[in-house]
Amino acid sequence: MRILIVDDEPGMHDSYRRSFAPAPADAGTLLAMAAELFGDDAMPSHDAAPGFAPTHCMQGLDAVAAVERALADGDPFPVAFIDVRMPPGIDGKETARRIRALDPEINLVIVTGFSDFSPLEISRAAGPADKIFYIAKPFEVAEVVQTATALGGRWAIDRELAAARARLAEQVVQLEEQGLELAANESRAVHIATHDSLTDAPNRLAFQRALAERVRRPGSFAVAMLDLDRFKLVNDTLGHLAGDELLREMCAILVGTVPNGGLVARLGGDEFGLMFDTPGDEAAVMACERVVHACTGTVKLFGHSVQGGASTGVVVRTCEDSRDVVDLMRRSDLALNDAKRAGRGVVRLFDESMDESIRFRRRVESGLGQAIGRGELALAYQPIVARQGLDVVGFEALLRWHTDEYGPISPATFIPIAEDSNLIHELGDWVLHEALAVLRDWPGQYVSVNFSPRQFRRPNFVGHVVEAVQRAGVEPARLQIEITETAIFDDAERAAETLYRLRQMGFRIALDDFGTGYSSLYNIRKFALDSLKIDRSFIDGMGRERESAAIVHSIIHLGQALGLGVIAEGVETEAQVALLRAAGASHLQGYYFSRPVPAAQARELATRRFSGDEGMVGGRHG
Ligand code: C2E
Ligand code: CA
Ligand code: CA
Repeated sequence: MRILIVDDEPGMHDSYRRSFAPAPADAGTLLAMAAELFGDDAMPSHDAAPGFAPTHCMQGLDAVAAVERALADGDPFPVAFIDVRMPPGIDGKETARRIRALDPEINLVIVTGFSDFSPLEISRAAGPADKIFYIAKPFEVAEVVQTATALGGRWAIDRELAAARARLAEQVVQLEEQGLELAANESRAVHIATHDSLTDAPNRLAFQRALAERVRRPGSFAVAMLDLDRFKLVNDTLGHLAGDELLREMCAILVGTVPNGGLVARLGGDEFGLMFDTPGDEAAVMACERVVHACTGTVKLFGHSVQGGASTGVVVRTCEDSRDVVDLMRRSDLALNDAKRAGRGVVRLFDESMDESIRFRRRVESGLGQAIGRGELALAYQPIVARQGLDVVGFEALLRWHTDEYGPISPATFIPIAEDSNLIHELGDWVLHEALAVLRDWPGQYVSVNFSPRQFRRPNFVGHVVEAVQRAGVEPARLQIEITETAIFDDAERAAETLYRLRQMGFRIALDDFGTGYSSLYNIRKFALDSLKIDRSFIDGMGRERESAAIVHSIIHLGQALGLGVIAEGVETEAQVALLRAAGASHLQGYYFSRPVPAAQARELATRRFSGDEGMVGGRHG
């Protein structure tokens, strides 16, 4: 460890020399003292007792020069011992001041008699106070060595810390640079992902996002699809470069003519999407006609004249319409198809007649309205068997509609359509009436009737059902009401009340399609239920996916814990029967036992047992 000593008395230098000569016997004690003073951590390790390399100066100016040299050599002094009185040159205070000016890190030890400067004065000249120390003359060898050792150790650690801090700061700067670069890359990547590389217009993804964003805000707006006329011809005859150029030119025209700062996106090929605010259908069509007009005319492409043109389909979304973006795009696409069929340069406004699915819906609606009168409806019954003994304890009534036009239509298709109109009530009343009537023929089974959410929420639902069973002369216990999670969770409080009253009167209540909705298993405690029906998708998946099997098991356990029955529906195989019985499902239903069958066949099944545990007899029906 380098040490600078400045004193004008040669005798003092001798004392220093003695102090810093190697004295192995003492080193341990001195280190221990230093460790006690500054803490173990502040010291270099014990066995690395510093060897001292003193530099002796007789005058302040020499010392200043030595410090300067040491700094230039990159080997600075950790500690300097400075005598205060050193005539005739500069005194200790001035020496300290100049050294400090050169080296802010060096520890200065002022070696002073009584009448010299006050410590405060020197600190002021050569601060900071934590790097200035005082030793009174005459000093003890141990005192000097201990001070030098401790200060040297601290100095080394401070330097390491400063170096580490500098490295950190550098790393922070690097990280910041990398962060900036990443952000730039990211925004470039986002741009690439959401823009078309040819025209730099937003792409389909960006268009869909913009639509999704727009539908959440109020105000009516138009979605238009635009397709270039004769684009394929240009591509085929003049080549792809010309085709690309045409796309770019057209895109620029669209951007220039789309009204109200609307959006132009390239959806793919020669198809563009426009979105703009508009007061209504008429204004939207006029705007599209202006756009199409702007696209029409001669375009110069690499010296060739090309006839530009476009067709457009447009749909206007007014506030009360759906928020379904895909549907909006589908509708404007349908309108575009219609426009293209009509020729070139045509603008078409979407109208429901263009939509086959809408047309089908309308036909189903009007057909359903007459179905009862025409006797097109029937109920099919599917047995529900008990886990023990597999005897038939009830039947689920499932609605069947046979139309002349389409043949049989699945309830999965027409029930949702009926649900959207008031027809569901008429149908539901018919189903309930029929299902209750058939009970007369059965020895004791219950009938399980599906009620859609809208039926369940109808005013005075309870009174309505009670009246129906009374009129049919049937015990409430022979009617099981099947409702779904949606029916009860939309207005949970009211549903809880309704279910409670029904249950009080003795009706059975089953929660259908359980597991597919969002209800927490925990929440269903609040509802007066008899059983849960595990949705058949889980039964179906049971043999294949671990997850389904786990869900089935947890639903069964939940049911048991809440004292509810658990009906497994969609049971198709013997393996499923075995698994479900073992898992503890209280009831089973599915093709394995029987498909839904007409009333007469159900009557036969009602007295039949799907026999004992040695295996199934009777098997599948239908
Ligand atoms: P859901 O209430 O979940 O009825 C069970 C459906 O699964 C029935 O279809 C039934 O035929 C079918 N199914 C039964 N066992 C099996 C099986 O082992 N494997 C397979 N793959 N399927 C099986 P369906 O009859 O087509 O009824 C469809 C849906 O229509 C019903 O689902 C129910 O939500 C609704 N629905 C049927 N009838 C009525 C009704 O009268 N009123 C109301 N509101 N909805 C009804
Ligand atoms: Ca059902
Ligand atoms: Ca179901």
